[in-house]
Amino acid sequence: MTNAAQKETVDIPNIPFIDLQAQRERIADKVDAAVLNAVHEGKYIMGPQVKELEQQLAEFTGAKHCISCSSGTDSLAMVLMAKGVGPGDAVFVPAFTFVATAEVVAWVGATAYFVDVLEDSFNMDPASLEQAIKDAQEAGENPVGVIPVDLFGQPADYPALCAIAEANNLWVMADSAQSFGGRLGDKNVGQWGLATSTSFFPAKPLGCYGDGGALFTDDDELAELLQSVRVHGKGGYKYDNVRIGMNARLDTVQAAILIEKLKIFPSELDARDAVAARYNEGLKDVVNVPELIEGARSAWAQYTLVLPENVDRDDFAASCKTAGVPTAVYYPIPLSQQTGYKKFPVVSSGTAVSESLAQSVISLPMHPYLEAGTQDYIIETVRKVLEA
Ligand SMILES: *Cc1c(COP(=O)(O)O)cnc(C)c1O
Repeated sequence: MTNAAQKETVDIPNIPFIDLQAQRERIADKVDAAVLNAVHEGKYIMGPQVKELEQQLAEFTGAKHCISCSSGTDSLAMVLMAKGVGPGDAVFVPAFTFVATAEVVAWVGATAYFVDVLEDSFNMDPASLEQAIKDAQEAGENPVGVIPVDLFGQPADYPALCAIAEANNLWVMADSAQSFGGRLGDKNVGQWGLATSTSFFPAKPLGCYGDGGALFTDDDELAELLQSVRVHGKGGYKYDNVRIGMNARLDTVQAAILIEKLKIFPSELDARDAVAARYNEGLKDVVNVPELIEGARSAWAQYTLVLPENVDRDDFAASCKTAGVPTAVYYPIPLSQQTGYKKFPVVSSGTAVSESLAQSVISLPMHPYLEAGTQDYIIETVRKVLEA
């Protein structure tokens, strides 16, 4: 290796896509003490920390009830089970999302109906939803509900989507796995629709040290059903099984970790806002930067660009990588085109936007501990690669 080549290797920064260690360093002593305490107490299943966390999360969102659970995916399934969704029922989901949104519909034997998304927000298109409801009715399906997704952290257009759902007698469950801490208009994430589902997977805005999730609702009856579904469909007590349920509890240790993380979460959301604003400012003249709908606050789970048509995404990602800037593609294939999901119906007006976004989106490093200097290097790199 020549000296010049050696020098170049040394100069490439090591930028993580998401830096969970930076957060860990900030509160490691408190989290470690909370974990050890939970271990010493020995109440591993549904210990006092679980209830305490649920109270804090309900307060944080303003929702009446919080039911913690084993993962975001399980939380989505729990609502479908509580609502008795099954074969012959149609549930509308966006074609451009993480697979779990549609997967749970298939679990209960219902039909996942794919709806297109909007180009600017990446979220469910109200006009496409309206068309899909008509299509499903004409096909003899029984439409029961809608699962809008708050993709990359921005709430979907709930006022528009909920109005359409209400007019058609459908419930709305928000898949807010990526948007916990976000807001739209006068409501926080957790307050939209009949129920809101979120995830505490480590890389989500509020993550634990394993799998975890939570549901939010103002509906007393649904909250009670969800408590039952969470523990094997229990009735009056554990060995009284009045319905089909699952084992979907959040571990006490994870609740203890989340209690500590929730304390710094508001400051992390502010930091994410600042990172997004810096990216927007540095990149808006060269590429399509993410846009928020009016009144929306994003939790910025991802910072996602739409590349111009003449830019080859693989080349762009490779050039960024060479310069030490990691990127990621969420999601490269619309669900409607995934092998396991091709049998499910697609709205008659098509999912052209989902298909186009799957080809052109790319996400940049985003986390609350991204330093301004590092970010400026990322911005400079992206600009150079685009201009090359
Ligand atoms: C992460 C995610 C889920 C699933 O959450 P898990 O906790 O990983 O099961 C569901 N929907 C969306 C949109 C997600 O991003």
